[in-house]
Amino acid sequence: MAMLRDYLRPTRLWAPAPIKPHYQVVIIGGGIHGLATAYFLAKTHGIRDVAVLERHYIGFGGSGRNTAIVRANQRTAASVRLYDEGLKLWPVLVDELDFNLMFFNSGNLNLAHSEAAVAAFRMAIGTANFLGIRSELLDPLQCRELIPALDISDRPEHPIQAGMYHPPGGTLRHDAVVWALAKGAAAHGVHIHQGVEVTGIDTDGGRVTGVQTNRGALQCRQLGIMAGGYGTALCTLIGLELPVHPLTIQAMVTQPLKPFLNHVVSSGAYHVYATQTLKGEIATGAHMDPQVNYTTDPTARYFKHQAEALTDFMPVLKDVKFMRTWAGLADMTPDMAPIMDANVGFDGLYLDVGWGYFGFKAGPIAGKYLAEMIARDQIPEIISPFGLGRFLENRYAGETAGAMKYGHWDS
Ligand SMILES: Cc1cc2nc3c(=O)[nH]c(=O)nc-3n(C[C@H](O)[C@H](O)[C@H](O)COP(=O)(O)OP(=O)(O)OC[C@H]3O[C@@H](n4cnc5c(N)ncnc54)[C@H](O)[C@@H]3O)c2cc1C
Repeated sequence: MAMLRDYLRPTRLWAPAPIKPHYQVVIIGGGIHGLATAYFLAKTHGIRDVAVLERHYIGFGGSGRNTAIVRANQRTAASVRLYDEGLKLWPVLVDELDFNLMFFNSGNLNLAHSEAAVAAFRMAIGTANFLGIRSELLDPLQCRELIPALDISDRPEHPIQAGMYHPPGGTLRHDAVVWALAKGAAAHGVHIHQGVEVTGIDTDGGRVTGVQTNRGALQCRQLGIMAGGYGTALCTLIGLELPVHPLTIQAMVTQPLKPFLNHVVSSGAYHVYATQTLKGEIATGAHMDPQVNYTTDPTARYFKHQAEALTDFMPVLKDVKFMRTWAGLADMTPDMAPIMDANVGFDGLYLDVGWGYFGFKAGPIAGKYLAEMIARDQIPEIISPFGLGRFLENRYAGETAGAMKYGHWDS
């Protein structure tokens, strides 16, 4: 029987490792994408000579700042397939990593406030249903049955006309996902180096050969840039200009409340989404600064917007206090779909950038296929629509339409 002292004894999820001068694979970025890729490289492909370099602490970027909403009802079939597989991976990871990722299968309700939004919902539902994914159109009364706090009268500035309900979605705990993946990767032999900042990328004869860091030079045969909002700046170190713009997104939580919101609810017209955390707080976000920038400072304009928007369609939230606010970077591409590609500009260089505000839900599944891409040096079919070449060939992925239907912000 476990004694109290066993529970009180501090345990480490992973042990620090010495920095080696050479690795087979170096991954820049200790977020969910870098850690998931490292985990699958080691676990599935037996490639254990891997280092994840993180300049601050793991989860410092978007992976530790997001609102952890997961769903699969994107706009295009290519995205829906990937995100659906991603949704199904969470319970597998809970078992595999032996870590409670706190998956709450609440379902997601997107609200439509115009004919155009209803038409867009119909298209998204059609795509999802065609691919066997549950998603349905609800009338306002059905929306209120799901979320009794919704005001479905004509009073709000944007009266609710319909809802798109997606039962498989929900939320997780983002920190738990980061820690679990780090634990899993390290258990398979991956080195996770925190406080190691990449300051230069070395190339020779059209091949990546290593990186310069604040802790010295490291050689590698394969290099993954998985640095979230900072990925595009890293690419400029080797002359690669990506069609990616970092923007600031903000989020906040209220004081804890008794449970009343059992679903993720979002509205494009209001530019807002909200979920109730297991602690009872209302976690809400959506606002994105319109100009390209690298700040992670919240703004007063955002607090005002969020308070006004939320209380207009859920008036029960009036007088509730916001307790904490934060911001992070979203690396946006013109079609709001990510870039996953191999041997970009240089042999041995693998890119995973441009996830915008969709990158949490896709983290582990992207990692699974990025690991396959690195291990086999071939692009897996399921991620092939997300290559950089699409921007040169005018084959945009079309997720902008998917996001616009929600008002350009939905997580
Ligand atoms: C407020 C907010 C809400 C969001 N909500 C959602 C949501 O509900 N659902 C969803 O799916 N997505 C959401 N997102 C998006 C999601 O968080 C990101 O897409 C995702 O976390 C990206 O993960 P990543 O591992 O690619 O990058 P990150 O988590 O950003 O990790 C990149 C890491 O690289 C490190 N790094 C950068 N430069 C260097 C360098 N030179 N050397 C070493 N390390 C470096 C950084 O410190 C960072 O830790 C949200 C984002 C924000 C900011």
